[in-house]
Amino acid sequence: MHKVIIIGGGISGLASAWFLREKGWQPLILEAGDPAGGSICSRREAGFLLDTGANSMMLKGEIVPAWFRRIGMDGEMIEANPLAKRRYVLKDGVPIALPNGPLAFLRSPILSLSAKARLLGEPFRPRSTDPDESIAAFVRRRLGPEVLDWMVDPFVSGVFAGDPERLSLRATLPRLAALEDAGGSLLRGAWRARQAKGPRRVAPRLVSFRNGLQMLPLKVADLLGDALHSGCIVERIHREGDLWVAEAAGQSWRAPRLVLAVPAYVAAQLLTPLHAELAAELDAISYPSVMTMALGFAQAQVAHALDGFGMLIPRKLGLETLGVLFSSTIFPGRAPAGQVLLTAFIGGAQNDIGARPDAALLSTVVQEISPALGISGTPHFVHARRWQRAIPQYERGHLDRIRRIDAALATLPGLAFRANWRDGVALGDCIENAAALSEGEGWRDPVG
Ligand SMILES: Cc1cc2nc3c(=O)[nH]c(=O)nc-3n(C[C@H](O)[C@H](O)[C@H](O)COP(=O)(O)OP(=O)(O)OC[C@H]3O[C@@H](n4cnc5c(N)ncnc54)[C@H](O)[C@@H]3O)c2cc1C
Repeated sequence: MHKVIIIGGGISGLASAWFLREKGWQPLILEAGDPAGGSICSRREAGFLLDTGANSMMLKGEIVPAWFRRIGMDGEMIEANPLAKRRYVLKDGVPIALPNGPLAFLRSPILSLSAKARLLGEPFRPRSTDPDESIAAFVRRRLGPEVLDWMVDPFVSGVFAGDPERLSLRATLPRLAALEDAGGSLLRGAWRARQAKGPRRVAPRLVSFRNGLQMLPLKVADLLGDALHSGCIVERIHREGDLWVAEAAGQSWRAPRLVLAVPAYVAAQLLTPLHAELAAELDAISYPSVMTMALGFAQAQVAHALDGFGMLIPRKLGLETLGVLFSSTIFPGRAPAGQVLLTAFIGGAQNDIGARPDAALLSTVVQEISPALGISGTPHFVHARRWQRAIPQYERGHLDRIRRIDAALATLPGLAFRANWRDGVALGDCIENAAALSEGEGWRDPVG
């Protein structure tokens, strides 16, 4: 039986432990927090159910749904309200629904007539000679500057808290890059992908769990039982012959294999004494701060119907709020009767919130979203959570950095990384990558 120590009990570490144990390994997971779960945290307060970190997950493919069935979470899963398919973007002071089809697109005021006409030329735009183009350069080149400003930039700020001028297209949105690679244009690439998959393609589903997303890490933690040590901050790792040793609060654990499922800057600290160049590469991955604000209002205070997923706010408008989710619409029942729950985001790579006080950020958010959503007065319920280093940014050069990191692993046998700073930040990506680790992917030296 292989023994393995996993440091970090966010979803990457927890799922890795579960999948490895299924393959007959004996994992020990050391997690700083208690309970485990990392960026997933749900709470009930004043009749509201809120997620203070990740809010929902997109269920795609077969691996994650099959895992939910195996761990008995499929019965706890809830699907988002169909209204959540509608997404608003703020423009000219009003929330505009993003068009959901070609006819709606032609009628939509989101782009000017000339920007719409420019899209007809998308299949004929030349490829770039830059092998690591930014998202912004790619979108400007293929779809035009207005699509960047009013559609892609708000999406990138809302999902990655990132700056499209700095993020690498290939690292951050690999599927988009693949469409251009496959068809020479997005339109042809999308058409070919559709043909290849056939008509029985299962549409992705936006989901959560009955008592919030945190039910998932709590369930996995429960299944792992004694294999999970919570409240255990690993201070040091080192090698002792062929073994890895992890040390925390005077205790130590040994195993031939070690998985670092921690943020890149934590992996950097732990690895500095063992491999300074590798640690420097990890430390160079940036993580902007984000604050999430759950805001409860009486329904009568909000004129907007909140009939959608939420409202994204383009950076071009010069506002600080990244966007606001209509949380009690996405998952009904998350607010007491007669009230609504919104979740606003502020911060990110384009707007450093630094150490500005919570109260100042709250008043900025309320001032900025109120005119667009027709909100009168202040929220009577507020829960703010600051994620000091929230989401890793896959900036240009990220894929080369990952290659250098992987090459450095050659000198550290038995070590693997599983975390959201490589191979995808979405929860579904973290779970799929954990499954792949148990199939032998991610280890430099063969497992067996
Ligand atoms: C505000 C916010 C909103 C998000 N929204 C969504 C969303 O709606 N949908 C979605 O799919 N994704 C979302 N994400 C992204 C997603 O939540 C993360 O990418 C994912 O949860 C990361 O999991 P992880 O296990 O890789 O890392 P983490 O969750 O960061 O876990 C790392 C773990 O390592 C532990 N650790 C750190 N140092 C040590 C140490 N020295 N010793 C032991 N343990 C240590 C930490 O306590 C933590 O539990 C969001 C993220 C944030 C921050």
